[in-house]
Amino acid sequence: MQFAAFADRAAELEAEPADLETVALVADLLRDAGDDIGTVARFLQGRVFPGWDARTLDVGPALCYEALAKAAGTNVTADDVEERLADEGEIGTVAANLDLGGQQGLGAFAAGGDAGRDDPTLAEVDDELRAVAATEGDGSEDTKLATLFGLFSRVSDAEARYLVRLVLGEMRLGVGEGTVRDAIAEAFDVDPALVADALQVSNDYGRVARIARDEGEDGLRETSLTVGRPVQSMLAQAGTVTGALESWDEVAAEIKFDGARVQLHHHPDGIAPPDADREPAPDDPTVRLYSRNTSEVTDALPEIREFAEERLDAPAILDGEVVAVDDDGGPLPFQEVLRRFRRKHDVDRMREEVELELHAFDCLLDGRDGTAGTDLLDEPFRERHGHLADLLPEAASEVLYSDAAEAIEAFEQEALSAGHEGIMLKRPDSAYTPGDRGQDWLKRKPDVETLDCVVTGAEWGEGRRANEFGTFLLAVGGDDGYETVGKVATGITDERLAELTDLLEPHVVSEDGQTVEFRPEVVFEVGYEEIQASPTYGAGYALRFPRFVEVRQDKDPEDADTVERVERLANGGVDDGADADADDAAADGADHGEAPDSAAEN
Ligand code: AMP
Repeated sequence: MQFAAFADRAAELEAEPADLETVALVADLLRDAGDDIGTVARFLQGRVFPGWDARTLDVGPALCYEALAKAAGTNVTADDVEERLADEGEIGTVAANLDLGGQQGLGAFAAGGDAGRDDPTLAEVDDELRAVAATEGDGSEDTKLATLFGLFSRVSDAEARYLVRLVLGEMRLGVGEGTVRDAIAEAFDVDPALVADALQVSNDYGRVARIARDEGEDGLRETSLTVGRPVQSMLAQAGTVTGALESWDEVAAEIKFDGARVQLHHHPDGIAPPDADREPAPDDPTVRLYSRNTSEVTDALPEIREFAEERLDAPAILDGEVVAVDDDGGPLPFQEVLRRFRRKHDVDRMREEVELELHAFDCLLDGRDGTAGTDLLDEPFRERHGHLADLLPEAASEVLYSDAAEAIEAFEQEALSAGHEGIMLKRPDSAYTPGDRGQDWLKRKPDVETLDCVVTGAEWGEGRRANEFGTFLLAVGGDDGYETVGKVATGITDERLAELTDLLEPHVVSEDGQTVEFRPEVVFEVGYEEIQASPTYGAGYALRFPRFVEVRQDKDPEDADTVERVERLANGGVDDGADADADDAAADGADHGEAPDSAAEN
């Protein structure tokens, strides 16, 4: 399929207001996509990679605008693109009006006059974008710029609209994950529930679309978890012991470890890297570790990898928490884990400083039966935990099965006195539902409320602090982007302020006197006394007495709290868990670079 044909269909979809018609249009497109079916299913959602593959293009707006400007001709600059964006409101429209490659762009020049526009195929666009994602190291910005410039120079105005959105991961077609799921079922006449199940285990719309078309319902039924392809983590809501005992006959209580979530994948034959597109080779690692957002973190956690390599023999996928421990093995605050979690440099030195331990609490796949692995998602928690205890007894969480509130409360007291954060309450007969924040896992923490807010701006300090930020503007996820809820300046030591300035300075997008604006990329955990309705902030609420708690380096902006949760907390409503909505949105695809509004579409 030519990219131009895809762009035509995208334009049709964008113009279609009715959900049902949108599903029908996507179904037609999938039927017509031929070999490109996987790419089509991903591109429609603004993705180059499937959900389990955390690679990104790593192209920020500045680089993208520069490539556009270059392709538009020597007299256009990135600043011009930004100005047009301010006027026209949306980057696709800007790109469509720039007349890319139509004039003296170098690409056109090299190809001989206006032959620069050569109408790339969808597969070529996919290849080029994958090449951008693979570019690393010194000079990578220039290489990315050159590749994007080359691509932009080749496309028509109509194609440019969707190409630039794809590069920035925001397609705005009104096609969310639910739409693609329903369209796959409609296009190939298969049961939508089977499509949903296959999506849950594979985390890959392109692959499921292909299976539905080529292998039908049998193929979907056989789609299973694969070692090396992480699934979304199952999530928890806030809950109480009495509430749990009212709903369930029995409760499985576990310590709530205060660390960072990891999904551990093990295969004795090795696990090929996601971009390899080949069978595993002998020197591929046998263990890979993924964060809650399915990014690979193996290299940052060598002792966890070594531990699993030594102890595991069979293919397995385990879910757990990595915690930092002191010399006596007692838990340290989770900030300590964050010093290690995504680290790329000085891993060995930090390993000396912060000791990490794995606490596994679930088993998603067990290959001890000699198969590629038996998918345990539909097994009850009690069974899955049994597999875990057999596979890796040294790291398996302790579980108290009880129907007595006193026993569970005593367990909680013990956990808290040992320095843990609280306890988890799980329904013993519940399935593992990836990405779902359902009622089957409840977290019970002593009552300290915090919000995870995205930092969208700051004010420079004064006097001797003129070179540091002093006050940070906080925002939460709304229907159309991020909405402000307050400013935080307290709870930050001098030393921390300098660190936060270094952390946030690269994210500045504009500056006006004392005030700066950031790209919404950094998440702060913030404590507060109360939430009040307030016309001052975009969210319609303001945090009273906000204080800085921590930078949530383990969370993407899409995982931050939402206006809806703020509203619930302000109204004293029952809180069903930190960042519930943002995480549901994330499970719906938002944490892979889609704009929040596209995720809210379903
Ligand atoms: P929160 O991050 O406050 O929403 O709490 C949920 C998180 O607690 C999960 O995502 C896990 O990272 C973590 N956690 C710690 N211990 C457990 C446990 N025993 N079972 C499940 N999740 C746990």
